[in-house]
Amino acid sequence: MAELETDLLFDGEDIEDNTEQNNEAIEEQLIQEEIKPAIKLDYTLETPEERNELVKKIIEQTPPERLTNKYLEILSNYIVFAMDKEERKQKKILTDNRMVTVNKRETSFEGLSDKLENGEDGIYNMIANDKNIIFTPKISITPEDVATIPGLKDLRDAITVVEAECKAATGKRKYLLKKQLIEMRQDQYVMKNAYHPPMYFSHGVKSFTSVSLSEHITIDENGVPHSDGLVTFFDPKHISALLCNYSKLKEDAWGKFWTDSYYLMEDLDELIERTLKDDYPYCYDLLIYKINGKQNTEIQELLYEKHGIKYSVEYLSSLWRNKIPKLLAEQAQEDYLVWYYTTQEHGKWKRCSKCGQVKLAHNRFFSKNKTSKDGFYSICKDCRNHKTKEKN
Ligand SMILES: [Zn+2]
Repeated sequence: MAELETDLLFDGEDIEDNTEQNNEAIEEQLIQEEIKPAIKLDYTLETPEERNELVKKIIEQTPPERLTNKYLEILSNYIVFAMDKEERKQKKILTDNRMVTVNKRETSFEGLSDKLENGEDGIYNMIANDKNIIFTPKISITPEDVATIPGLKDLRDAITVVEAECKAATGKRKYLLKKQLIEMRQDQYVMKNAYHPPMYFSHGVKSFTSVSLSEHITIDENGVPHSDGLVTFFDPKHISALLCNYSKLKEDAWGKFWTDSYYLMEDLDELIERTLKDDYPYCYDLLIYKINGKQNTEIQELLYEKHGIKYSVEYLSSLWRNKIPKLLAEQAQEDYLVWYYTTQEHGKWKRCSKCGQVKLAHNRFFSKNKTSKDGFYSICKDCRNHKTKEKN
């Protein structure tokens, strides 16, 4: 039966037709993105190994700033489609539409956090914007994969080269190389997927609410808490990604009390209220307007009406992208420290000599002062900040 199916799907004509279509699709993408490869893509190359060699040359001859994510994606498709063809020849293929598989970019947890470290394109942006990109459990690349999947070893070698370059690079070049590395690492999974499609592809797209969000938190030698969670409030970039996709995520999680994501969104709301509402009312309003999809120019007007201050559009954007996520992340860290040193470990506490409040003896709450006995100023950070504000 299996034999019969394969025969039906992959007669000679089918192979030719598809290749033609794939080539055209790649050419079209190149034109759309206005990309002219350093060396013309050669579609007569039939094996992924040959195509991989060509791609390596193209990458070598292209300045890193021109190697956009889109460009690298097209190049990786160019390789993967050849793999497709070779597989078809060997009649190994079980699905009839590989384009779908190729578009479903496999992402390991390692890849995910890399993305998130990179800021703008967090996984939540990916979920919200591209329904083809799915969230799947970690898949690792095994030595067996490297030995059996065409082109994978070359890709691994190329990654090692770029990693070394990245280490030595600085500034914008480093950033671009890092971006490239992330893409290349992900391409490994794209390749593996195309070659050995995992079973769970047939179960369809996993939604945000089925993602487990457990985390393990450690406090480093500077007293800063860190989380190994897929999503953590301690990281401003994660917060930013959550905020940018707030409506979608909230909608996804709504009413699903049995999921981590429901509580994540509830906690986020609570954190926003506690951090911004009283102390940063203009940030609070800005956040609400943003979540409701308003444009910066409109928000500028609304804030002017309400608070009497005309903020520049650039400043609003920086508040939304940087300051607000940072404020929320810092508050989350402080909350954790207070909780930890109240319930888990006996922390040192001290009373501020100005406001009289008892706070954790920690550089989040008291600035460091080498000349004092306990290493901190006697007046808490909040009081010190108020003082300097008054002076100005
Ligand atoms: Zn104080």
